[in-house]
Amino acid sequence: MAARPASSSTALRQARRAWNLLHLDSAQARTLAERALAAAGGDVQAQAWARLALGFHLLYFATAAEAARELERAARLFDRCDDRAGQVLAGAAIARSMWRQGRVHDALARVLPLRDEGVRVLRHDQRGVLLNTIAGCYSAQGDSAQAFAYMYEALRDAGPSRGRGFDTVLHCNLAHELMQIGDCEQALLHVDQGLARCAQLKNARLQSVLRLNRIACLTELGRAAESLPDIEAVLALPADPSGRGRMSTAFETLAIAALRAGRPDLGAELVAQAQAEGLSALPDERLERCTAAALLALRHGDAAGAVARLRAVHAEAERDDVEGLSLRMRAQHFAVLSEALEAAGDAAGALAALRRWQALHREQAQLASRARYQAANLQTELLRLQHRLDETVATRRRSEKARAELAAINEQLSHKVSEVQALQEALRQQATHDPLTGLFNRRHLNDTLPMLFALARRDGQTMALAIIDLDHFKQVNDRHGHAAGDRLLAAFGELLGGALRRSDVACRYGGEEFCLLMPRTDAASARRKVNTLLRRWRAQAFPFEGGTLAGLSFSAGIADTAQAPESPDALLSAADALLLAAKRAGRNRVGTAAVPA
Ligand code: GH3
Ligand code: MG
Ligand code: MG
Repeated sequence: MAARPASSSTALRQARRAWNLLHLDSAQARTLAERALAAAGGDVQAQAWARLALGFHLLYFATAAEAARELERAARLFDRCDDRAGQVLAGAAIARSMWRQGRVHDALARVLPLRDEGVRVLRHDQRGVLLNTIAGCYSAQGDSAQAFAYMYEALRDAGPSRGRGFDTVLHCNLAHELMQIGDCEQALLHVDQGLARCAQLKNARLQSVLRLNRIACLTELGRAAESLPDIEAVLALPADPSGRGRMSTAFETLAIAALRAGRPDLGAELVAQAQAEGLSALPDERLERCTAAALLALRHGDAAGAVARLRAVHAEAERDDVEGLSLRMRAQHFAVLSEALEAAGDAAGALAALRRWQALHREQAQLASRARYQAANLQTELLRLQHRLDETVATRRRSEKARAELAAINEQLSHKVSEVQALQEALRQQATHDPLTGLFNRRHLNDTLPMLFALARRDGQTMALAIIDLDHFKQVNDRHGHAAGDRLLAAFGELLGGALRRSDVACRYGGEEFCLLMPRTDAASARRKVNTLLRRWRAQAFPFEGGTLAGLSFSAGIADTAQAPESPDALLSAADALLLAAKRAGRNRVGTAAVPA
């Protein structure tokens, strides 16, 4: 046994994802599989899964022979790395390619022995794929009861992973099988459900097969005209690896529907296309092509030609032991034969063909009664799963909605929190600041002064305190108005605020009075600083309506903690006294204890 490469390799993960995407997004599945193959290097298991995904893709989008080649390679790689799940899936896919080539018996012989091991080693939709293949083989063999039984099992196993689109495949197959037993009305319901589901998948092939089933059902029900939009839709899909795929053309089915729908032009075109496909390996397809050609001849008024075409395959249609030849196709053959013979004037022959048609219908009905029990089971299961899916979707929607609401509330909440923070900040600002000058207010001074005073004393440092009073301010108000006075106060606030150290505290003390606290500064230094302020204040000019105001002055009194060490109040009083002295001495000056100016 070859050494198993690390199962976490990127290529392997990619290959498995490709496999999981087969029904959901066929083109993406193919791209991923090819990428995984390119990246796999010597990783045998990654190569195997990539080829398996590719092989499955080809089963849907290429000829059975092309798919088989890829799948055989995958099978050999799985043997080398001893991956049992892979071996079983590859075997099932090879069996599928066999019955697509008309080898129904071989296919069943290949896939049935895998059943027990598959049920053991495969899980969920992988097991579903195996069981569905067995169902397909039985269906091709005309054993609808077995086909339904396996589909039922497949559905139960694939249930939990319905998100991968496998249920759509089952709707499609179920519709096909119901049609085989003559339950076309029921089949139509499943086609519709499958197509509704298909709208969420990117899988043109699956869509085209579902539509083909609807076309066949409607034709059987004598409502071929209703299938014209489906015919157009199928023909509009590109017949290449990314489109409906070469295996699902079924031009003969389309042709019969078009001819029955009263569109001989379209029918003729489709018959020609069907014949251009060459001889089919599938007996059903061969017979249906002849039926389509005969119907076309009949529409062209060539009853004899129609009969001749049908007679050519008549021997096969008579036999009930042809592998892969369905009762439905044989019945269709006899129905058209009866029409052709009648048109050719052979009433007795027409009646005989009609009797054959009736007999085949009876057989179909017997088959139906055997299969109906299984079909009913399957439909119940589908319904149950449908409900579960709906519930899951509803729950997800509900929780998504709840999440969205929660996010909105969170958003509102964080908005509110920042609003409150901004408000608190504004309140704090309002509580400690003077709105006109932007300086601290008197309340803040009252809080701060005792603190800084104590700090200075503890650290053995000197703190200076200055009280500044603007000179003759009343006159400014009187001459230029209160607004002008306000403007000057704001300007003075700006001057103070800009000239100080970070550790200094500037407050508006009263109307036109200011107080400066200057830690680690003595009265002499403070005096120099305040003098500088006085010079700058005098140098400013303010144009007002009644003329420009310039050369404004103030008076100041400065004291420090060395001079008034008793208390903050003593310091304030000392500075206030010196301010008064400065006013008395003629204003426009800075008073200190040591050198009264
Ligand atoms: P002095 O040189 O003696 O200090 O004279 P003064 O006129 O400056 O002093 P006084 O105390 O007589 O007048 C102060 C004036 O300041 C009175 C008041 O109208 C004015 N004032 C106080 N607060 C404000 C204010 O917020 N805005 C304005 N525009 N004026 C104010
Ligand atoms: Mg005053
Ligand atoms: Mg004043």
